[in-house]
Amino acid sequence: MRLPLMAAVSGLALSVGVTGLNAMTVDQENSMAADAATATPAAEAENPLLAEWTGPFEGVPPWDEMEPDHFSGAFEAAMAEMRAEVQAVIDNPEPPTFENTNMPMELIGDTMNRVQSMFGVAVSNISNDEYRAVQAEWAPRLAAFYQELYLQPELIARYRAVYEGLDEATDLTAEQRRLATRDYEQLQRNGALLEGADRERLGEITEELAGLYSEFSNKVLADEETYILLDSEDDLAGLPESFVNTLRGAAEEREVEGWAVVNTRSYMQPFLQNSTRRDLREQVYNAYINRGDNGDENDTNATIAQILQLRAERAALLGFETHAHWRMADTMAGTPENAEDLMMRVWPAAVARVEQEVADMQAIADREGAGITIEPWDYRFYAEKVRQDRYSIDESEITPYFQLENMIEAMFYAAGRLYDLEFTENTGTVPVFQEDVRTFAVTDSRDGSNVGLFYLDNYARTGKRSGAWMTTYRSQQTLGGEQNVLASNNNNFTEPAEGEVALISLDDASTLFHEFGHGIHYLLQDVYYPGLSGTPRDFVEYPSQVNENWLLTRDILNRFATHYETGEPMPQELVERIEESETFNQGFATVEYLSSAIVDMRLHHRVDPITDVDAFERETLTEIGMPDEIVMRHRLPQFNHLFSSDAYSAGYYSYLWSETMDADTWEAFVESGDVWNREIADRFRATLLSTGNETDRAEAYREFRGRDPDVDALLRKRGFPTGTIGATGDDD
Ligand SMILES: [Zn+2]
Repeated sequence: MRLPLMAAVSGLALSVGVTGLNAMTVDQENSMAADAATATPAAEAENPLLAEWTGPFEGVPPWDEMEPDHFSGAFEAAMAEMRAEVQAVIDNPEPPTFENTNMPMELIGDTMNRVQSMFGVAVSNISNDEYRAVQAEWAPRLAAFYQELYLQPELIARYRAVYEGLDEATDLTAEQRRLATRDYEQLQRNGALLEGADRERLGEITEELAGLYSEFSNKVLADEETYILLDSEDDLAGLPESFVNTLRGAAEEREVEGWAVVNTRSYMQPFLQNSTRRDLREQVYNAYINRGDNGDENDTNATIAQILQLRAERAALLGFETHAHWRMADTMAGTPENAEDLMMRVWPAAVARVEQEVADMQAIADREGAGITIEPWDYRFYAEKVRQDRYSIDESEITPYFQLENMIEAMFYAAGRLYDLEFTENTGTVPVFQEDVRTFAVTDSRDGSNVGLFYLDNYARTGKRSGAWMTTYRSQQTLGGEQNVLASNNNNFTEPAEGEVALISLDDASTLFHEFGHGIHYLLQDVYYPGLSGTPRDFVEYPSQVNENWLLTRDILNRFATHYETGEPMPQELVERIEESETFNQGFATVEYLSSAIVDMRLHHRVDPITDVDAFERETLTEIGMPDEIVMRHRLPQFNHLFSSDAYSAGYYSYLWSETMDADTWEAFVESGDVWNREIADRFRATLLSTGNETDRAEAYREFRGRDPDVDALLRKRGFPTGTIGATGDDD
C-alpha cells in the first residue's frame, strides 16, 4: 500500500502534503499555504497535467505547460481515478489475499503521483498568489479525500483479513509479510478502527489541521518577505562586496532605494557574521528571531495553540498517550524517551562547549576594548574572529576556493567513485520549471544503463521557499515495472551578480553535499514494493549526513577547491587549517539545534496541550539551562518543521539520531585508512542505501557495521569529550 500516510518522509498523518504518493520530499516538508480563492478548472480534455509524461527518461514532467488553473481539474480527475482503483479492489469477489489486496493497492494513483509531483514544485519552487490559492483550496480537500478513501470499512476489512491470516499464509515471503503487517498497523495508527462519531471527529481534525498548517506557513512566509532597508554606505560596514551586491539586488527587486536585508536565514547569517555595526546586527537579529511572533496579523502563537490542541485530541482518539508517542510509533527510536535520552546525552557536553566558546569570544571583545558583553547578535560575529585568531581562517579566505560549479562537479565525482553514478549535463533537452534549473542524465558507469534524471535548482528567488530540500518526482520500484528515477535538489544559494562567478560558503557546500546525499539514496534505491521504500523519519537524514563527510576530504579539496581567479588549488596549509577547525563552533551549532529538538519533543510529549506558546518555550529553555547567548535555531513561532505539516513534529530529534549513525559510519571509512574504500561503500549501499525499508533499519545497520551505532562517535565528531557524560537526562 502506498498511502500518502505511509510515505515515511511525508509523515504518517492522513494528510498528504503536496508530496506525491510515489514521491519523496525531505528536509523541509512541503507546506500548504492559504489565501482562499477559487481556481477555474481547465477542461480535462486539454489539461496537460493529466497526460502521461512523454519524452526521454521514460517520460518527464511537462513543466513548461503547467498553469495554476490546471490543478483543480487535474486533482478532480486524479481523485476519480483513485476512487475507481480502490473500488475495484473492494469489489473483488475473491476472499482477500495479499495478491488481490495489498499488491494492487501498491500501484494505484498514477495520475495523482504525477499531479502532486508537479504541484509540489508549483508551491515550493515557483509559488505565487495563484498557486497559493490552489493550495488553500486543495490542502484540506485532499486531506479529506485520502481519509475517506483509505478508511473505507470494506477496504480495511480486506487488509485486516490478510493481516490476520498471515500465520496460515505460508506462501508469502518475508517482505510480503512485512508489507502486509505494516499496511495494517499503519491503518490502525491512522484511525482505521475508529467508528461513528470518533471516525467523523478524526476527519474534522485532519481537515482543520491541514488548514492551520497552511495558515502557519503563510504567516511565516509573509514575515520572511519583509526586509530591513539600509540607506547609507555606513550601514554596510564590514559586509563583503558580493553580499552588498546581493542586498542591492534585493532592494532593486523590491523597487526601493538602498540595500534590503531580507528576513531570511540566507541574509541574516552573513549579515550577523560580517557587519561591524552592532546596532544593525541587533536589529536584523531581532527581526529574524521574531518571525511569526510580533502580535500582528502574522503572529502564529494562536495558530500553534490550536494545532497542539487538535494534535492532542487526535492522539487520544487514536489510543496514544501523546502526539509524540503517536508520531514515533514507526521510528527507529520508537519512543519519546529514547529520543530524549540521546539528546540529553549530548546536551551537557554541548552547553559546556558553549561556555568555552563564549569565553573565547569575550576575551577577544575585551582585548579589542569593545566594552560589550557577548549577546546573541554578537555570536556569529565574534565566532568568526575566534576562528581567525585560532585557526587563522577567515571565511573570505575560503570562499574564493568554493566555486559552486566546481563543488557540483565534486559531488558528482564522489558519487562516481563510491557508487558508480555518472552525471552528464543535458540542460535544455528537457522541460524545466524555471529557466535557471539545470538537468543531468544519470547513468550507471558500470554498464552505461540509465538510472534517471537529476534536476538542480540552486538559487534563491521570490516565491521559492527557504532552506534546501530533495524531492523525487518519480521514485524507483520494481512491482509496477522498473522506471527511471526523477530526482531534484533544491537549494537557496545567492545568485551571483551578472557576470560574476558563483562562490559559496563552506556551509553552502555542505548543504550541497547533504541534499545530494538524499539524491543518492533515492537514485540507488532498489526495492520491489513501493510500500517498502520510504524509510523511518529518524533514518532519512542519515544518507545525506554521511555524504557531507566527503566534502572536506583532501582528495576533494585538492581536486575541486580551486581559486576562482587564479585557478590555483587550495594551499595545503589552508586545507590543514580547515581540517583542524572542523569541530570549531560545535557548541553553538549543537545547542542551537538541540534546544529546538528538545523543545519540540517536550511540547508534544504531553497529555495536556500547552496554550501559552511563548511561555512554554521560555520555561523549557530555562529548565534545560539554555545559554543566554544562543537562541533556538527555529523558535516555535516560526518552526516550519513542526507546524507546516505533521512531518517533523516530535521528529526534529531525527537529525541527531541520523547523525549518530552518520558519525559511526564515517568512522568505518576512516578506520579503514581509505575514505574511498569500495568494500565499505559497497556494503553501505547493499545494506542501507538501496534497501529502502525492506528490512528493519536497525538490523540493516547491524548488518553493515556488525553492531549498533556508537554514540561516542557522534561526540568525537563534534569534538566533545566522550566517556564521562551520561549523568543527566532527567526531565526536570
Ligand atoms: Zn536532509
